[in-house]
Amino acid sequence: RAKTDGRGIFRIYSPEMGNKMRRHHYLLEEMRLALVNQSFTLSFQPIVHVEDCSIDYFESLVRWNHPVEGEITPSEFIPIAEDSNLILPLGDWIIHEACRQMAAWYNAGMKKVRISINVSGVQLKHRILHPWIMDILNKTGLPPKSLLLEITESCFIEATKETITQLELLREEGIQIAIDDFGTGFSSLSTLADLPIDVIKIDRLFIEQANEKSKYNKILESISELGNKLSLKLVAEGVESAEQFELVRKLNIQCVQGYLVSRPETSRNVGSKVLKQNLNHIALTGTNIWLP
Ligand code: C2E
Ligand code: MG
Ligand code: MG
Ligand code: MG
Repeated sequence: RAKTDGRGIFRIYSPEMGNKMRRHHYLLEEMRLALVNQSFTLSFQPIVHVEDCSIDYFESLVRWNHPVEGEITPSEFIPIAEDSNLILPLGDWIIHEACRQMAAWYNAGMKKVRISINVSGVQLKHRILHPWIMDILNKTGLPPKSLLLEITESCFIEATKETITQLELLREEGIQIAIDDFGTGFSSLSTLADLPIDVIKIDRLFIEQANEKSKYNKILESISELGNKLSLKLVAEGVESAEQFELVRKLNIQCVQGYLVSRPETSRNVGSKVLKQNLNHIALTGTNIWLP
């Protein structure tokens, strides 16, 4: 086992650590290849209004189907891409592809739906956000009001003044900003008032743990109350059951994302479902017509 040597420094000599590092290096090399070979794809998951289940926006989520390993989750490969700065070219591809797809949907008539992109802390540090994003919007023809950027609470905590300024410039263009995984980053509720944000995405953990007796209900109540007072849009992540949907409605949270409504889908499936299916059904019955 790896132990600290008393000064907080890890001495690495366990076989597990060796395996982990080998996997890390292996995935990094494979990601470089995948980027060249264009083997990454995007999935899209709708975030819907609780009121009528109409779609507010789609979150784009990167997918990697490795020829030998099969599906590798972003929770495994994104941190490795961040460690090596490979997230920069990968992130460029993701935002380009998401904007290109959304521009196609926009031109096909989806004028009110936005697309969201997860932006990593490494990107915040290395890209000058306003010119970077505006250039991509110009190239893909997507209007700024169709774009939303998701930035985790922990990245916000580390954001520099310059980053915040760049985010403010983007908001002036009509781009929206969401604080992602809110509630896990240990920022104080009061910082919400000072951040350049439009949307709070409450971390899945809170919905998962919420029940009549738990303190998570109380936390959800206060997040909702404050969010509403600040005129921020609230999204509950990870809504999987009709009970959770009902709880979210009672708490005055405006939007939900979760398997109850839809799993992340390929662009092709989104196209057919958005055009053909009526999400009102879920609001009325609590059952999902998107899943078999
Ligand atoms: P996130 O941004 O918080 O994305 C939401 C995650 O929750 C997605 O996992 C989604 O599939 C999952 N999810 C949605 N509804 C439910 C539900 O009802 N139940 C459960 N159990 N999970 C649900 P995914 O796609 O595996 O992504 C995980 C994380 O990886 C993301 O969390 C995000 O932090 C990161 N990630 C994914 N795609 C990208 C990307 O394109 N760029 C960057 N920088 N990070 C990404
Ligand atoms: Mg997100
Ligand atoms: Mg999230
Ligand atoms: Mg997350």
